[in-house]
Amino acid sequence: MDELLDREYDVVIVGAGPAGSSAAKILAAKGVKTLVVDKRQEIGAPKRCAEGISCGGMKKTGLKPDPAWAMQEIKGSIVYSPAGRSLIVKTEDIGGYVVERKIFEKHLARDAINAGARYMVKTLATGVIKEEGIVCGIKAEYMGKEHTIRSKIVIAADGTDSRIARSAGLDTSNPLKDYHSGFQYEMAGLKNCDPEMLHIYFGNGLKLVSYIWIFPKGRGTANVGIGMIGKHSEQGNKARECLDRFIEKHPEIFADASPIEINTGGIPVGSAIDTMAIDGMMVVGDAAHQVNPIHGGGIILAMHAAQMAAEVAASAIAAGDYSRERLCEYENRWRESDGVKVQRLLKLRLFLEKLEDKDLEMFFSLLTSEDMMRIVEGDYKFLTIKLMKNAPRILPLAKKFLI
Ligand SMILES: Cc1cc2nc3c(=O)[nH]c(=O)nc-3n(C[C@H](O)[C@H](O)[C@H](O)COP(=O)(O)OP(=O)(O)OC[C@H]3O[C@@H](n4cnc5c(N)ncnc54)[C@H](O)[C@@H]3O)c2cc1C
Repeated sequence: MDELLDREYDVVIVGAGPAGSSAAKILAAKGVKTLVVDKRQEIGAPKRCAEGISCGGMKKTGLKPDPAWAMQEIKGSIVYSPAGRSLIVKTEDIGGYVVERKIFEKHLARDAINAGARYMVKTLATGVIKEEGIVCGIKAEYMGKEHTIRSKIVIAADGTDSRIARSAGLDTSNPLKDYHSGFQYEMAGLKNCDPEMLHIYFGNGLKLVSYIWIFPKGRGTANVGIGMIGKHSEQGNKARECLDRFIEKHPEIFADASPIEINTGGIPVGSAIDTMAIDGMMVVGDAAHQVNPIHGGGIILAMHAAQMAAEVAASAIAAGDYSRERLCEYENRWRESDGVKVQRLLKLRLFLEKLEDKDLEMFFSLLTSEDMMRIVEGDYKFLTIKLMKNAPRILPLAKKFLI
């Protein structure tokens, strides 16, 4: 297979996750000679994900549910306050699916390959090649041998802490305050947990906790996980202990359940990096921190950004212009579309993180399900009016972060 390496392509994509394969499919369909490399020996595994995607997001990216990977249809979410008050959030767009990501990613790759893209797995990109300051390919290792792959454009879709973007001089670092460490069990044997709803628990008495989730996958299985600010191993342990305590506290759900997988991973929740395109290179998905800052969901954002990047890359290839000026159109498109909502949700995250459990409880008491639906869309201006009337104590915080 290594004859696919040491060649010249129009575009080389590093990373065969949702972002990389979405870009590859569009590029290949437009006749752009595209190679995707991934360091994993199996696309999709191991998963680092709770596997939830929304119907709204699927519509936006043109994804149709396929029974091969769409494991459980979801009708909405139930959001629980620290004291157990619950709010149901249900709209057509809030519904969605919990997917089997190991299969989902392979399907995305297969679609790209059927469109004409080439793939190499177990191929580690070690850095970019630059000539006169312009990125013009990558160095990669496959089966212990080094290879040089030249291209007009490199797309870094290599996930959080992107090594490839960094090797080109971009700052993709994650300050601890903007990094969630996720710890999750996939469990079987759950009971008394509505399988058509995502269950999201806030609070839990530990200020650092972002939230705990139960994302049902059908037949009594679910992803049960926790997202916590910061990346220290100590906090990784805290996250696991906190999740274990939560499981113990809910015997009605977990008494007969056991883990069938453990998943860990980091989530960049601080909004997108400043520069997503340079001469000869674009950065997409988690590599560009294109993640929902509230719940860490990034599959759809990654796919949508990658689709925009691929459109721009294809037209740049056609025009023979791979300069930052040309590729920047992608960055601008992203900032004007998904970027607006992500920025708003970042402010909301910073506000929520400052609240103690008792504040969160009071905050929940003021909200209706309709309010919650507006908030998840990044529309929260109305909140300050509600807080002014009912919770003047946290109004200064709201003014600081939400206005
Ligand atoms: C615990 C947890 C739960 C989550 N739950 C959800 C959820 O329910 N819904 C949701 O939408 N999002 C969720 N996310 C976030 C989601 O997983 C990511 O946003 C999404 O995977 C981003 O896709 P991507 O293609 O940008 O990156 P990735 O999926 O990370 O793909 C990057 C790819 O690049 C490859 N790669 C990396 N470096 C190199 C290299 N040097 N050379 C070659 N290949 C390389 C990797 O092997 C990988 O295949 C969760 C994340 C975590 C950690």
